[in-house]
Amino acid sequence: MAFQIVIIPCLSDNYAYIAHDLASGATAVIDVPEPGPILRELAARDWKASHILLTHHHSDHIDGVEALAAATGAFVIGAAADANRLPPLDLAVAPGDVVRIGMQQGQVIDVPGHTIGHIAYFFPEARALFTGDSLMVMGCGRLFEGTPAQMWDTLGRLMALPDSTRVFSGHEYAATNARFALTVEPGNAALKTRTESIDHVRAAGGFTVPATLAEERATNPFLRAALPEMKSALGMQDASDLAVFTELRSRRNGFRG
Ligand code: ZN
Ligand code: FE
Repeated sequence: MAFQIVIIPCLSDNYAYIAHDLASGATAVIDVPEPGPILRELAARDWKASHILLTHHHSDHIDGVEALAAATGAFVIGAAADANRLPPLDLAVAPGDVVRIGMQQGQVIDVPGHTIGHIAYFFPEARALFTGDSLMVMGCGRLFEGTPAQMWDTLGRLMALPDSTRVFSGHEYAATNARFALTVEPGNAALKTRTESIDHVRAAGGFTVPATLAEERATNPFLRAALPEMKSALGMQDASDLAVFTELRSRRNGFRG
């Protein structure tokens, strides 16, 4: 049965998501940058938020939680490892746990790197992966707390999911990420095509989420660090996968789109 997912732009470039299980009416909100746009969308659809799923503790993902929980009575779920710096949780989960939203079951995946204690939620039946600021469309989150090795492991865990997985990330950074990717792999034909389509979508005011994992594998430089073509593009033919990932992440930090 379907899990209907609505994209809610918040703040300047954040995304929150509403995921509605048609069979039961259970409705999850994934990350709450601000309550207003989410409450308006819920009201317009006559849906009642039953759950709030949090990916990580940064304020642009949690600032609206208290207001949304107070307005809806939604049950707040987040990482046990981060319970001390998340809003009060009704359920603290650990990697490997399963969260149930009506008939839908979501797997909790450990995705440290951007922060420690960052989790993602994967709903296999809906092929939906909510990544917060770990894997992003054509990019990955900045390493505020974790090491390159932790983020590389994180991306490896996510890359093990099926190609058809739809990635719902926490921000709209695709256009800048694509510009950066082109500086690294100017000869990647799939990347050129995708950059054009991203520019089209953005010019029309559309969203670049969700992206499929297959598209990401072909064009997201951070998922390509182990590939010989990426290593030669960087002149790092003999380097380890991790060294290549580390170099990419450091170049991205210095990139001003
Ligand atoms: Zn963040
Ligand atoms: Fe963020």
